[in-house]
Amino acid sequence: MPQSDAYSSKAIVIGSGFGGLALAIRLQSMGLQVTLLEARDRPGGRAYVYQQDGYTFDAGPTVITDPSSLEELFALSGRKLSDYVDLLPITPFYRLLWEDGAAFDYVNDQDELDRQIAAMSPRDVEGYREFLKYSQAVFEEGYLKLGHVAFLDPMSMVKAGPKLAQLQAWRSVYSIVSKYVKEEHLRQALSFHTLLVGGSPFASSSIYALIHALERKWGVWFPRGGTGALVAGMARLFQDLGGTLRTATPVEQILTEGDRAVGVRTKAGETLKADLVASNADVMHTYERLLSGHKRGAQMRRSLGRRRFSMSLFVVYFGLKAPPPADLRHHTILFGPEYKALVEAICGAKPLRDDFSIYLHAPSVTDDSLAPPGCSGYYALSPVPNLKQDIDWAVEGPAYADRLLEAIERRAIPGLRANLETLRIFTPEDFRTELNAHLGSAFSLEPILTQSAYFRVHNRDDVVRNLYFVGAGTHPGAGVPGVVGSAKATAGVIAQDLALQPA
Ligand SMILES: Cc1cc2nc3c(=O)[nH]c(=O)nc-3n(C[C@H](O)[C@H](O)[C@H](O)COP(=O)(O)OP(=O)(O)OC[C@H]3O[C@@H](n4cnc5c(N)ncnc54)[C@H](O)[C@@H]3O)c2cc1C
Repeated sequence: MPQSDAYSSKAIVIGSGFGGLALAIRLQSMGLQVTLLEARDRPGGRAYVYQQDGYTFDAGPTVITDPSSLEELFALSGRKLSDYVDLLPITPFYRLLWEDGAAFDYVNDQDELDRQIAAMSPRDVEGYREFLKYSQAVFEEGYLKLGHVAFLDPMSMVKAGPKLAQLQAWRSVYSIVSKYVKEEHLRQALSFHTLLVGGSPFASSSIYALIHALERKWGVWFPRGGTGALVAGMARLFQDLGGTLRTATPVEQILTEGDRAVGVRTKAGETLKADLVASNADVMHTYERLLSGHKRGAQMRRSLGRRRFSMSLFVVYFGLKAPPPADLRHHTILFGPEYKALVEAICGAKPLRDDFSIYLHAPSVTDDSLAPPGCSGYYALSPVPNLKQDIDWAVEGPAYADRLLEAIERRAIPGLRANLETLRIFTPEDFRTELNAHLGSAFSLEPILTQSAYFRVHNRDDVVRNLYFVGAGTHPGAGVPGVVGSAKATAGVIAQDLALQPA
């Protein structure tokens, strides 16, 4: 395609999660005419927002890391993130609490970290420093060098091989942490991060140990007004650039002629033509449903059917007619008593257990605009098996929510149930029906080595070569920095295919 035509190419992006939004911004910044089609009534995907009884509940991501990747999206058109959204630093990053009474404030201050590690296990102070060096090395290689580059052919993997071997990428995060740090609470504190991207610390490749270095480098942030304010800022940027965002427009079919995508048909029956199509929707949904008109759809459905999809999540959003307790922090992790057995049961889609680990989000600690005056809003998230395990969530859900609230009242928020004013739940079944997530998975393909980089769904389809992917199911993977990085990788491939300057 000649350059002038390429610049006026029409692109359709299906789905407005963080990945879809970031790709739409990049393509629009490159000069393409982009239409972003979202099935739900507002953008954000897993970062949807519920307004309920005067409370604002962020549905999903709340730990915002690597703000530089977000700033870059605005800088592409000479704009500034800070003109659209205000990011507030959070400290401690997380407060970690165990059933046996142990506590750890995960902070970015080296002296304070040393003090807390020494209090738990003096010999691990030095081990931690060694682990940090390891984490920084994987961060350099896995995030800075390879996190924004598409793996489209086997050679790309072969090239990365020696470095991955040197970093012992076949080992799990927990196993690497355990090599350096001996105390069990500290091992959990330094390895739980894979759960934030859908992986077990006991099975995910040690590449994911990079998350620790990433948090230490750039900190943990929360957008004023909630993560929804960041989504709104990105959607506004896209529209300011001239892009078209259409919500409540589910796509039913990706239209093809031969091995080329030529547009989409919406559920309402409208046909939209395009020179290229990118899907931010679930990868199985895209191949199985949206590409059902091409033999590649069935081929990839079979291939993805053999892969491991990540765990799901059970989330309970609640509002209390009381301010947050003075000693509660913005992010708290309440570890369960049998952590390893629990994580393995969840990731292995085994039956639901009686015990659980909980991530408690308390945004009212940082921002009092998210709840009515004198009140506080929260969500509690508990990893649970995906829908491979047959659980009737319509029955189990309310009972599970009760048990979570009881545990939180006992361990973090005294008087919770007496002050309860509003509540809603989101189950694995909702991931399937609301987000078209295969098996109700919260994070798409599980982040294990054999499903990473070249072994993940490619950023460009191998057969329909103007069909692209962005988001959790493609390289590099889930989490806000991951999917924003996937947008950079995918935009790079599109730029190359159209002989344009990448954005
Ligand atoms: C509860 C929860 C908490 C999390 N917490 C964090 C955190 O603190 N920090 C962090 O970094 N990550 C976190 N994550 C992970 C992170 O949110 C996700 O990995 C990331 O947001 C996924 O983005 P995505 O680009 O893949 O798109 P998604 O958010 O999956 O969005 C895909 C979009 O496609 C749309 N769509 C689907 N099918 C169609 C169709 N046929 N037509 C049109 N549109 C369609 C969907 O409606 C959706 O809007 C969390 C995830 C969850 C679920």
